[in-house]
Amino acid sequence: MHEPTDRVRRAERSQIRVMFDLAESTDRDLVRLEVGEPDFDTPEHVIDAAATAAREGATHYTSNAGLPECRRAIRDAMAADYGVKHDLDEIVVTVGGMEALHLATLATVGPGEELLYPGPAWPNYETQAFLAEGTPVEVPMQAETGFGLDADRLVSRMGPETAAVVLTTPSNPTGRVYDPDAIRAVVEAADEYDAYVIADEVYAGLTYGRDPRGIAALSGHPEHVLTVGSCSKTYAMTGWRLGWLAGDRSIIDEVVKIRESTTACASSIAQHAAIEALTGPQEPFEEMYDAFERRRDYVADRIDGIDGLSAPRPEGAFYAFLDPDVDADSLTFAKYLLEEHGVVLAPGSGFGTAGEGRLRLSFANSMEQLELGLDRIAAGIDAY
Ligand code: PLP
Repeated sequence: MHEPTDRVRRAERSQIRVMFDLAESTDRDLVRLEVGEPDFDTPEHVIDAAATAAREGATHYTSNAGLPECRRAIRDAMAADYGVKHDLDEIVVTVGGMEALHLATLATVGPGEELLYPGPAWPNYETQAFLAEGTPVEVPMQAETGFGLDADRLVSRMGPETAAVVLTTPSNPTGRVYDPDAIRAVVEAADEYDAYVIADEVYAGLTYGRDPRGIAALSGHPEHVLTVGSCSKTYAMTGWRLGWLAGDRSIIDEVVKIRESTTACASSIAQHAAIEALTGPQEPFEEMYDAFERRRDYVADRIDGIDGLSAPRPEGAFYAFLDPDVDADSLTFAKYLLEEHGVVLAPGSGFGTAGEGRLRLSFANSMEQLELGLDRIAAGIDAY
């Protein structure tokens, strides 16, 4: 029988998934802090808008780029919330941020070319580079600076083979928001090497205590920036699978063409839900944002008070990247915490070499569960 291709075989099973499966296979009482999605349901007004649209006939394919009203809503939200300005034909509505990243990688990274990203990083970039037959390159950032963006390190690894660099801000898994000057330096270098910066801004709406400017708005070379956004995290809409890609026409035109052979278009019903989320009442989303910020404060304070535990203070998203002072690799320690102390975290090694020794805690969970989970982590470190 013909073997599956290398490009699919090189992709590894995510370690977050390993922990998820372990947690699912036991009937113990567990505190689940490994999950990377809001614990809130989509607000009612969004569900109503989608249901009404479906009843009124929005059950057909849309154009490949997406409904014009949906692209208008995205265009206006990007400009108002993040200062990123695009024309309608520079925006494609995608099946979540994941499809946007996949399409951006396929359109920019050729066989043998490099896709760079500062580590630790979300594991999907590596797989997406493999699918494009490119070479994923993790450039480890420094733990001592809390994994902030070290532009010198990243830029010194760039070269003629670099086709694209992914910058994720706020970051999954570290919760860091990158410094604007460092971002500018990376975009400048992309201009020099004729490469792209893929700006993964799916968590931009969850930036705490500072202005969430988009990377394209920060740089002098917006034509080198492809912006990925999503309704998933800010609007509690992970299951609707609705995101977008915005950027230079030369790339967007190609993306619109090839996606005819992948998904053709995002769900028509989800596009109507997105229009309502982006243009309708914002109070439910503001309440979620406030809840995430309160949890961030609580988690950061608790970490400070636990002996043998530290983490860079999360500035965005809903992750704290824990550094437990124990002599164990992160998968072993994550399994120990699950099995002996009933708390589930994502092992840092699942986010690349720079993540080894760390654990990602998601605070997309109730205060009660966070309190209990942190008690269990403290007990686990103490007893190890
Ligand atoms: N980028 C990052 C860093 C993520 O963590 C995720 C989801 O977990 C995504 C992109 C894609 O999310 P979605 O496809 O739900 O928009």
